[in-house]
Amino acid sequence: MSWQRVTVIGVGLIGGSLALALRRAGSGAEIVGCGRSAASLRRAAGLGVVDRWTTDVAEAVSGADLVVLGVPLGAVRETLESLRGALAPGAVVTDVGSAKGCVLADAEAVFGAVPPWLVPGHPIAGNERSGVEAASAELFRDRRVILTPAEHTAPQAVARVRALWEEVAGAQVLCTDAAHHDQVLAATSHLPHMLAFGLVDTLARWEGVEEIFAYAAGGFRDFTRIASSDPVMWRDICLANREALLAALHRYRADLEDLTALVEAGDASGLELLFRNAKETRDRYLPLFER
Ligand code: NAP
Repeated sequence: MSWQRVTVIGVGLIGGSLALALRRAGSGAEIVGCGRSAASLRRAAGLGVVDRWTTDVAEAVSGADLVVLGVPLGAVRETLESLRGALAPGAVVTDVGSAKGCVLADAEAVFGAVPPWLVPGHPIAGNERSGVEAASAELFRDRRVILTPAEHTAPQAVARVRALWEEVAGAQVLCTDAAHHDQVLAATSHLPHMLAFGLVDTLARWEGVEEIFAYAAGGFRDFTRIASSDPVMWRDICLANREALLAALHRYRADLEDLTALVEAGDASGLELLFRNAKETRDRYLPLFER
């Protein structure tokens, strides 16, 4: 699958990594970077991630056969507005946002209906770092990417984006609908991020906070790693996947009440049962999420 010109709007961790994967695969495509900050784009060019850059979206997408939206979810709608009317005939647009229903809603708001050339996507890969300096050509290797085409998404556009992720980035593509994606990701990604951010925020306001962190061990470090993620990105994900996240938070809060009651009651067998169930579940599914 060949691309002549690929435009990446938002050349950060994810957009930059996809650009590097295109380079590593020897695609030969010209890679055009776009975003709001000239300084970041200059760094992206300096690192060899993009061939050229501009902060003008219409100029950036002109003549591109593939456009990747790597901006935070809160910037998707204005980016779609800026590229309206500027795409080359036959161009395919995809995004990498961590929630998908909101991308379809943004596309509907801008274009009146989800355009057939838009293929919403979400690489289940990444880390707590951000910015182009953190980008890596290997970020997506052997990881999953979920595509959530809408009813009228062109099958050939989906096939092209699938090929991008599988043949260029070395990932495995799954397709589902946006609502299902958002429910599953609320449970496996968005809720855990809320717990990590919430825990560190709580501890930050405890007296003797320095001592708390000084005494922290590996488990604390593992559990709270994702609280170092980008606050703007996570603000946007919370707002974008609000309903599914709220359902997950309410469910978790009820279960936390139950756990609190077991501790209060000194219920040894209840606690052991709960921990055993959690351990057995994690151990059983570990091979699935270690990939
Ligand atoms: P990132 O490293 O911060 O990159 C975001 C890029 O977008 C930066 O180049 C930033 O440039 C640019 N940008 C920010 N606001 C913009 C705006 N209003 N207009 C134009 N450009 C703007 O973030 P990321 O981790 O790559 O995340 C990007 C997307 O990928 C998000 O939607 C996120 O949900 C999704 N995602 C992230 C992960 C992860 O683990 N990080 C995993 C899967 C999917 P400047 O700030 O320099 O201007």
